[in-house]
This record gives sequence, C-alpha cells and structure tokens, in this order.
Amino acid sequence: MLSDPTIDLCRRYTGETWAGAKERLSQLPQGSPLIPAAQGDQAFLEGQVLRALLEHPTTYTTRPLRVVRVIPYETRPVIRFAADADPEGLADLIAWGLFSAGGRDDLRGIRGLRIQEAGHGRIDVGLLESDARLRLEGVPDAAWRGAEARRHQAALKFGEAASFHHRGPTPGEHAFAMEHRWFEESWRESSGLGSALLRRLLIFRSGADWLDMAGFTKHARSYGFRLTFAESRWTAHDTLIEHLCHPACGIALNEDMRSCACAFGERSCRIWFDGPEHAAGRLDLQFCTDRGDCETAEYNQALTYAGSPSEEIIRVTGHPAGAAVVCDPGCHGRHGKVGFLRRVSERRHPDGR
Ligand SMILES: [Zn+2]
Ligand SMILES: [Zn+2]
Repeated sequence: MLSDPTIDLCRRYTGETWAGAKERLSQLPQGSPLIPAAQGDQAFLEGQVLRALLEHPTTYTTRPLRVVRVIPYETRPVIRFAADADPEGLADLIAWGLFSAGGRDDLRGIRGLRIQEAGHGRIDVGLLESDARLRLEGVPDAAWRGAEARRHQAALKFGEAASFHHRGPTPGEHAFAMEHRWFEESWRESSGLGSALLRRLLIFRSGADWLDMAGFTKHARSYGFRLTFAESRWTAHDTLIEHLCHPACGIALNEDMRSCACAFGERSCRIWFDGPEHAAGRLDLQFCTDRGDCETAEYNQALTYAGSPSEEIIRVTGHPAGAAVVCDPGCHGRHGKVGFLRRVSERRHPDGR
C-alpha cells in the first residue's frame, strides 16, 4: 500500500518530515491523490497566499519563498516558514506581505485575511465570510508581536485600520473591492493553479539547484518564478519540468511557449505554461545564470549572512558557507548584496539592536 518510495517522492514536493508524511498519507481516503487539491474558497485563499508571497521580496534564502514545508491537508493546510537569522524579517514578510495594506488602489496583501489565533510559533488565519483556513508556522512569537505592533502604529499614522483582527472588511478593503472587482475575479479564476503550486512548492527546491529564487506576478493570472543558477550548478529546464508535471505528485501543466537561448551558449530562458485543462492561470518560469565566480561568491556571502543552512549553501554555490569573494580581473567590484541586507535589517531596528 504505502511504500517508502511513495513517501519519499511526496516529501520532495511538500518538504514534510518522514513521519509526518507517512501519517498524513496513511489517513488519505482510498484513491485520493497524494497531494489533495483544495476547492472553492480554500483554493482561493491558497492562491492568494502564493500571489502575495511572489509579490513580496523573498530573495537571498535557499528556501523557496522562505517556505520550509507545506503540509497539504485538504482543509487547513500548514505552511512552515524558516526564521533563519532574521525572524523579524520573516514576521514582516507575513505582517506586510500577507495582510492587506489598506488603500483603495493598493494591490498588496490578501483582502479579508484575519487572525483567528496566534501563539506558540503558530498563526491561524482565515478568510472573512468563508471557511477557508490556513496555519502559518515557524514565526517566533516575539518577532510576530513586534511586527503586529509596527503595523498597528503605521495604520494609526495613516488613519487606516490594521486588518489582523478587524471585524468585517476594513474601509480600505471595502474601497478596493468596489474599485477593482475584476482583479478579485481573475485571482479567483486562477487560484486553482496557485493553490496547486503552493502545495508543491518544495519541488522547486528539491528539483533544481538554484542560487536564488525571485517571484513575480503578471496580469493577475500569472505566477512567476525566476531562478538564478551558478554556472556550475545549472539544472536543465526539462528536469525541473518533469518534476513539476510528475503523474503522481505534479500538475498537468501544458507548455505554451519557450524562449530559450541555451543552444547559443546563453542561459537566459523563459518558459510559459497553461494550467491543467480548462483551468485558468499561467506559470511563467525563468532560468538564468549569474555572471561568473565572484557573483556566485557574493550570493554565498548573502546566503550565509541571512542564515541559510550550510549544506544548502554548498549545494547551490559549490563552496563552503561564507567563502570569500575573490573578484575576477575586470569585475566591476560592486558587490552590494550583503550591505543591502544589513541596511534593511538596520532600518527595522534603528536603535542598532
Ligand atoms: Zn534554455
Ligand atoms: Zn567581483
């Protein structure tokens, strides 16, 4: 019935622990897919979470969108994030990235997302006027309290309502819904693909050795992933695509278009996919390589500073964590990634904590 290779296969997509995956899979009804699909409002919420994570900066970490694990229960799935060396940064990602930001024309965040319970490193969230639920894990309580306080202060300053516990839509959410109804409709139509991608997010990590992953969205229906590789760690497009489309754990994506320069020795490629049959939504997948050894070393420094695990850093850069940047002759010498990360964290704590 439930063989070890099946458990291992599923874990490549979800990042679940071995015992956790075994337990979850053993409770699935006969004939259920290994990674069940969410329906209705639940799929909408998950598609919105993926969209919000793709739109918020989550670079300079070896975890895809800072996520370590997704436990794909049919209802109330669990997303576990990595605190890494910067738990305040993670708390800000959730506070500012996932919750709506207020204004009438502000696309950021998820309208109607509300906290149901927070504590013990977990935040249970739900969507107003629906049964859609999600558990966010891995956010240290102290960091979360700080982020919540900062958002409340900002809301006061700009005369807005912080959405975390607000009863009913905030004035900003209401105004947005009036003004931009078609956005919500497009998001809803393409949310099945978003939810399916979120539930398999870890295949982007176990199926490719990228140095960095950046996200983006387009036209309200496209989910975009931009993967940057060290020259020596290039993963062939079709290897990752095979994983993404795997018959047991993947998604039945349809390749629509490919713009690929690999045959000419260049590595800046882009592949577009349509969602499974009749489902709206697109996946926009980009593959690029960095420019030489000193750029890879710079990523190494940034990943080390941000607290990615050293075995992951070796895997994606080919060098031990923190290996020094030795510039190639002719390099512009402007390597500012670590300085940038330091400035971002200093801005969060102007008192120098
Ligand atoms: Zn290519
Ligand atoms: Zn250099």
